[in-house]
Amino acid sequence: MTSGSIADYFARYQVPADVITFVTRPVNHFIGGVEVDGETGRIDLIEPFTRARLTTMASGSEVEVDSAVAAARKALAGPWGRLPPLERQRLILRLAAAIEADTVFLSYLEAIGVGKSISDAQAIDVFGSVANLEYFAGWTSKLDGRTTSAVSLPGETFIYTVKEPVGVVAALVPWNFPLQTLVWKLGAALACGCTVVCKPSELTPLSAMRLAHLAADVGFPPGVINVVNGLGHVVGQALAAHPGIDKLTFTGSTPVGTAVGRTALGTMKRLTLELGGKSPVIVTAKANVRNAAQAILSGVFLNSGQVCDAGSRVYAHRNVYDELLQELKSGAECLPAGPGLDPRSRITPLVSTAHRARVLEHIGSAHREGASLVTGEPASTVEQRRDGILRPTIFGSCTEDMRIFREEIFGPVLGVSRFSEIDEAVERANSGEFGLAAAIYSDSVDETITLSRRLKAGNIYINAHGLLDPAMPFGGMNASGFGKDMGPEQLDSYLSTKSIYVQIGS
Ligand code: NAD
Repeated sequence: MTSGSIADYFARYQVPADVITFVTRPVNHFIGGVEVDGETGRIDLIEPFTRARLTTMASGSEVEVDSAVAAARKALAGPWGRLPPLERQRLILRLAAAIEADTVFLSYLEAIGVGKSISDAQAIDVFGSVANLEYFAGWTSKLDGRTTSAVSLPGETFIYTVKEPVGVVAALVPWNFPLQTLVWKLGAALACGCTVVCKPSELTPLSAMRLAHLAADVGFPPGVINVVNGLGHVVGQALAAHPGIDKLTFTGSTPVGTAVGRTALGTMKRLTLELGGKSPVIVTAKANVRNAAQAILSGVFLNSGQVCDAGSRVYAHRNVYDELLQELKSGAECLPAGPGLDPRSRITPLVSTAHRARVLEHIGSAHREGASLVTGEPASTVEQRRDGILRPTIFGSCTEDMRIFREEIFGPVLGVSRFSEIDEAVERANSGEFGLAAAIYSDSVDETITLSRRLKAGNIYINAHGLLDPAMPFGGMNASGFGKDMGPEQLDSYLSTKSIYVQIGS
């Protein structure tokens, strides 16, 4: 279908009236339990499929950041800070239940705001958010310190540690999984008793605002969850520099994360950086090629390639290379493309015209640098294609000196290369600056375990891609950042540990 007007688009997919009201009303901030419209000005929110203006969003400044931080500090010192852990658990579970009950509404918000598939929004974004909160709710009552025996002190002592919430957390998140990425921060932060100032991407604020209302409705005290909307270099920068923020957790690109991290260290904030990736995929001679191709396609084309751990560079053993390319080509050509509100769509519009232009520039570079097009966007149309949905694009004969094999593209583009010896594949997979994820396809257990130890990445997938579970930590190495979201490993970064020494007797 052609994009047409936004009203036609909503009518065609029978978007419920309450969703339309929500997405077309002005987007404000959520500070201290209420919506605040702010004074600094507004920016347009553009719907990715029709590229029409959806509504306007408050563009915050240091003023709103100051007031959100003050609200979060007040909440920390108020009843929330004294709530028994089981009460916190109950509140988090209530929020999880409210999100689950709101699945359809939230899925519309993600499909309309990001342009993504509404089926994925439901199955991944909303489901993943609920699971994360349910998992972390259980941790509220298990954040124990430890008692130990002194190993060097003379006399009798009693020594132990206690864990306390780190304080006010700033959560800066990107646009590709807006709700889920935010909840990845919130689950642990709330479980640990922190309060939060959220800064959604300026492209996708809708689900964060809905979440803030749901949290207020289920009884979170004012100021525990705040949302300040606006531009990254204004609101994000102000949060990174703010002395009232104790911890900053950032998910986004490597260049921005590096700069944000430097600023945050200026006031000695605790820091988690979840950054970009260029994840390698190794398909050995012992792989089931058909199964591998299916998993590779979903690993790279999910969310139209706008996924941080997308397996976007494949190293295939020479014995399986041709067969794999054929399977990838036929699989990619079958992926239904269309608007996000069509539940059948697997390939949907990219989030913005500017981002599409960046992805097209990468496709153009692959053509210029001599990669061979297997399927997707041909060189002849690259220059003219400045809008619309990009076809899943696969290049063969890729080498490490090509930009599409080195740089994060964040779009529906896959590069494939051939290798002869497994050592060569490992060396090439480990080359480059990132270390977010890697995947291995092989039917040999020995081979997969050995390779998993040799690959330098925070997340290793075997005969699959992109499996995520709240019980498992997610995070990268090298230019993909440090610190973890999810899993018990995440908790410590939202807690301060105090060591208490008691001298017994004189
Ligand atoms: P981005 O770095 O442009 O923005 C991320 C967030 O930072 C947004 O909220 C943005 O408004 C804010 N920001 C931008 N400039 C800022 C500045 N100067 N100071 C402070 N804050 C600023 O990233 P994006 O384009 O929104 O998202 C795509 C990137 O996110 C990709 O690189 C992707 O790999 C990465 N990502 C990583 C993970 C992960 O878990 N590692 C997950 C999802 C996305």
